[in-house]
Amino acid sequence: MKWPSDYHMHTPLCHHAVGEPADYAAQALALGFSEIGMSDHSPMPRDDWDDWRMAQSDLVDYAAKVSAARAAHPSLSILLGLEVDFIPGLEEWIKGLASRFDWDYFIGSVHYVSGDFDLDNPKKLSEWKKRDPFEVWSLYFQRLTQAASSGLFETIGHADLCKKFCFYPKEDCTALFNTFLEALADCDVALEINTAGLRKECREIYPSPSFLKLARKHRVHITFGSDAHAPSEVGANFSDAVGLAQETGFTHWCRFKGRQRELVPLS
Ligand code: ZN
Ligand code: FE
Ligand code: FE
Ligand code: ZN
Repeated sequence: MKWPSDYHMHTPLCHHAVGEPADYAAQALALGFSEIGMSDHSPMPRDDWDDWRMAQSDLVDYAAKVSAARAAHPSLSILLGLEVDFIPGLEEWIKGLASRFDWDYFIGSVHYVSGDFDLDNPKKLSEWKKRDPFEVWSLYFQRLTQAASSGLFETIGHADLCKKFCFYPKEDCTALFNTFLEALADCDVALEINTAGLRKECREIYPSPSFLKLARKHRVHITFGSDAHAPSEVGANFSDAVGLAQETGFTHWCRFKGRQRELVPLS
């Protein structure tokens, strides 16, 4: 199998990942990838926003690490991406980030649903327990829909991240998913198939098979990501992810370069 590019991997700059881009690249080459993309957690307007992302002053170092990986592994295409947190009001900040480097793509991710509640943070389980899951899922998908419509991102990361800790609503969420997927289709933004969910409590790829079926109906395009936080996670479960995409009827994936998209057949 010829692997689609793995566009979601982190670096130690975010304080919760290990291995340099060159190490991720070496692992990708060993697995037979022809392209990867680094996408570490973006800086925020305040460096004390939280403890799981790079500081603004780390951006130069981040780009240099990617350049070093390219120099060490010239036979692999290594893209410069970023996993950018979408929060309404940060649009101008994100545009500013976009103008600072020659990015290949931005993954738009929602982790914060309100205030300082980052719903995938194990330290926030107490917050989950205080809330109604449907209310959290609704807030999450409202933000995700805004992210899709913002025009700031090439692809949207781990679209049903809200299932991570298995706080599932009793209510039917199909309408939330459809509104988000319509925004993706209207704005021609891709949806990431992210295998990290298999390594979390939910034990399921983000997004779920039924969600992906809806995405296919909306003719949304896809990207792939392992969300590797260690070199050993590069390409994790990609055979499952590609198999799921093909079973669902997807025939192509999106390749990026300089924030331009190209569709590549899944093989
Ligand atoms: Zn992370
Ligand atoms: Fe994320
Ligand atoms: Fe990530
Ligand atoms: Zn992520």
